[in-house]
Amino acid sequence: MSLLPLYEYPDPILRQKTEKVIKFDDELRTFLDDMLETMYADHGAGLAAPQVGVSKRMIVIDAEQEDDENGNHKKGNPICLVNPEIVYKSQETIFFCEGCLSLPNLRADVERHQKIKVRYQDKNGVEKEIEAEDYLAVVLQHEIDHLDGILYIDHLSRLKRNMLLKKLEKNRAEQKE
Ligand SMILES: [Zn+2]
Repeated sequence: MSLLPLYEYPDPILRQKTEKVIKFDDELRTFLDDMLETMYADHGAGLAAPQVGVSKRMIVIDAEQEDDENGNHKKGNPICLVNPEIVYKSQETIFFCEGCLSLPNLRADVERHQKIKVRYQDKNGVEKEIEAEDYLAVVLQHEIDHLDGILYIDHLSRLKRNMLLKKLEKNRAEQKE
């Protein structure tokens, strides 16, 4: 397994609409394992293929991982979703403070559907469904957005978005000093 390079805002690959996955082979399965490893290494709850430079409909998530009292990371429930599609969204919404590996060191409250149902294929191409609510639903919506070139900052007001992007610029300028 190997770590994949992260693509950060404003890389154009993050804005492309991704292609459906058709071929389920060892190459795909290795790539998904690498995505999971990269997600854990960067302390993410989820990762979408465009964030590692591949414009295809694939995401990996783990909404149950945690750090124990000694700071050791424990895997929770890693899930690879290929060609995910939201087939149900609740009217009820929730706000959750989100961050994104492609927009490092920023966070903001985003409104999401409280409950969703997602149809997807696993790494072998088998069709599955997952029902999710609260945090798991938030993570899934955030990652599936990536497959349509949407970032969480797009859900914010223009004012809030500009404030965050200014902060990102400032952080990057300070890192260069
Ligand atoms: Zn993200």
